[in-house]
Amino acid sequence: MVYKIFNTIAFRLALWFTGIFTICSGVAFVLFYFLATQTIQSQIDQELLDNASKFSAIIHRTGLMGARELAVVEAQAAGEKVIFFRLVYPTGEVFASSHMSYWKDVHVNKLALRDLIINKNSIFETIQIPSTRQKARILYSYVAADVILQTGIAMDFYFKFLSAFKKVFIGAMCFIIIFSAVAGWILIRKALSGVATITKTAQNITGSNLEARVTGTGDKDELDHLAITFNSMLDRIEELVKSIREMSDNIAHDLKSPITRVRGFAELALVHEESLEDYRIMASNTIEESDRLLDMINTMLVISRAEAGEGDFEFKKTNLSIMVKEACDLFAPLAEDKNIKFHQTIEEQIFIVADVKMLQRAFSNLLDNAIKYTPENRKVSVLAFKENHQVVIKIEDTGISIAPEFFEKIFERFYRAESSRTSAGTGLGLSLARTIVRQHKGDISVSSQQGRGSVFVMTLPYSNLEVI
Ligand code: ADP
Repeated sequence: MVYKIFNTIAFRLALWFTGIFTICSGVAFVLFYFLATQTIQSQIDQELLDNASKFSAIIHRTGLMGARELAVVEAQAAGEKVIFFRLVYPTGEVFASSHMSYWKDVHVNKLALRDLIINKNSIFETIQIPSTRQKARILYSYVAADVILQTGIAMDFYFKFLSAFKKVFIGAMCFIIIFSAVAGWILIRKALSGVATITKTAQNITGSNLEARVTGTGDKDELDHLAITFNSMLDRIEELVKSIREMSDNIAHDLKSPITRVRGFAELALVHEESLEDYRIMASNTIEESDRLLDMINTMLVISRAEAGEGDFEFKKTNLSIMVKEACDLFAPLAEDKNIKFHQTIEEQIFIVADVKMLQRAFSNLLDNAIKYTPENRKVSVLAFKENHQVVIKIEDTGISIAPEFFEKIFERFYRAESSRTSAGTGLGLSLARTIVRQHKGDISVSSQQGRGSVFVMTLPYSNLEVI
């Protein structure tokens, strides 16, 4: 369970969220700390310099006596543990100071004095007050020609401030870490709740229940898009499963009739004693039915292989005009039997790259249908011509026509319109024809008008080849 939580995106994001939040707050606190210490220190330094200026002014006005008094009075006023003043000669000899019982161990730093004498610039230093844990900021500065002021301020309030700040900082950091972890976890869980819904829906979907759909957030955010995409994927899968089911029902149905008939012949041969001639007829019927079955299975295989891009197509330079003519010649007797007027308008010398046998199979299926679904004494026309880099083959009939809602359906495997069930057929012809034509980078479309018949248009890309 714990391992599962560690592995969730929500946990990892919450961890990142907390980490980033903590680092940012830490950086902000450190910056603030640095700025605060700098500001306080420069304020202390300024106060020390101001005091030096005061001494300078008083010496200028009243001489050293005034400075001696000022040292005592100023230290008393601010607190003798807070500030001290010492007036020294450049030799380091002290000639006046404030009350120094608290500061007695703080001596004059000879090195600082030397620096001051050489550079004439005020010298600051931070020292530890001996025998206390306090620190002090010390200033050495000239206040008259040969008079140096050593003054110092206890920095305890400064360190008190820093330790208070540290406490606040640690408390705040603890709060920030806990708050960002909890808030991050809640927010991320909320944001990812859509993903959980999608996962749950996906888990609920089985082969028999494809109706489940995810409810989008409606916010047009990423999860909403994911839900929409997921639902449209489910729509497609449902459609596909439905068509596979329909197809297998059709296959079962179409295989059942010939097998039942074959079984009937065999039963007849077993039960009754028939003449040799009858046995021959039954055997020939059995072969015919078996051939039909084989033909159907082979056609299915050709379609599936071609759709999967594994068909054995042999593309060659082909005279399409001749191919169309030959197929028409083959079907002419069939039309004649039904007294159908069979018109052919075929442009000469149309050359394309094609598998001539396959293309002939496709064209023959269309022509066969046109004659099959056209009643006697009517008309079927075939036109073949080049148009805008395409070769167009039109098969127009005056038959039973097709309702527009079935224009796409008739190209599905095994689909047969109710009106045509009386005619022989497998429902594979158009599917095979379209697959073959698509393998040639062409297509087949249909249009039909009630009572007027149908027009099947086969288009193929035209390759402008030299005449052989
Ligand atoms: P089959 O002809 O063996 O039934 P097809 O795949 O060739 O199978 O055709 C599928 C269905 O399309 C046919 O059953 C028929 O309903 C319809 N159809 C095809 N061609 C025509 C046509 N020329 N006129 C009317 N209906 C047609």
